[in-house]
Amino acid sequence: MEFSFSSKYPFTSEAKQKVEGSSLELNDEMMERAVQRVVTALKGKAEAPLEHGDERGTPYHIHPSDELLELGSYAAARMMLAHLRNRFLINKFAVAEAKRASSFMGKDSEENLRKLGDELGINPQEFEGKLALPVYQYASFSPRSIDYRLIFRNVKNGFVEVTRHEVIRLMEEAVKGKMESYKPLQNPPQIIRDYSQKLMVLVPKETVLKMSFKEGDNPPCIEKLLEGAKAHQNLNHQARLVLAIYLLARNVPVEKVQAIFSNLPDYEDRKTKYQLDHIIKRGYSMPSCATMLSYGLCVADCRIGSPIRWKGKVEPWKKGKGSSS
Ligand code: SF4
Repeated sequence: MEFSFSSKYPFTSEAKQKVEGSSLELNDEMMERAVQRVVTALKGKAEAPLEHGDERGTPYHIHPSDELLELGSYAAARMMLAHLRNRFLINKFAVAEAKRASSFMGKDSEENLRKLGDELGINPQEFEGKLALPVYQYASFSPRSIDYRLIFRNVKNGFVEVTRHEVIRLMEEAVKGKMESYKPLQNPPQIIRDYSQKLMVLVPKETVLKMSFKEGDNPPCIEKLLEGAKAHQNLNHQARLVLAIYLLARNVPVEKVQAIFSNLPDYEDRKTKYQLDHIIKRGYSMPSCATMLSYGLCVADCRIGSPIRWKGKVEPWKKGKGSSS
């Protein structure tokens, strides 16, 4: 059978009802699958669906007897994460599950997208012949990327014009947000405790996060970004760019910058290396404080013009040929 709505989107109330209405119980097979689901997330991949479909739009398939197991493995993975409350695992899982759902959305029917939108609180509608979203929905779920900033969008009568692709991108963000929140799990079953230990082994050691900077070495905006990386937050594009430029300007070795970025939930080794090499090659210069403010990354009023002038300690590592600002 094709993947059902519930299998594609196991976080929905329909999927929850299916699990609750079944005689499904936690067992070793389900727990192994749940662990595998998290392990796959840590590798930066979406679990399963691409093995069951192809890029030409052939429907994804799942054996009927596997459907409940699939839903159960998702629920078990969530229970383990609620028990562990480890930010690294939670954020990695959130990114992977959101991407998994998004890979289905791109090929799903309009009816299913509408149904999912109702669940997530994203209801696109026709407005003057174009697809549009109410501003409050758009603002709640738009990615923190400059392309999605309202000042660059066509806004009219409380609606923002969007494309189908953008609606799916917003839905992906909404799924990620859903995946990042957990209610504390009171008295988890022993099987959840036991298998949770297997996940903790996968969490990187804190030593990777240690920096040679001392307190006060960096301006508040950069400290905040470093803290975000340390807490495995999903920093947006501008934040990553700024942090990379700053660290390279401070002569932090590329390998170390890469190690810091490896804490981000959607980290990809090759992509990050390529981007760091690109920054070095193009000689990007540090954005000014005004630009940082426009990115929403300025958190204080240091009156130094640019974060790189913090305490006058650092010199740009290279005279910029290009500029990110
Ligand atoms: S004023 Fe400049 S250095 Fe200070 S927090 Fe803002 S962007 Fe950073």
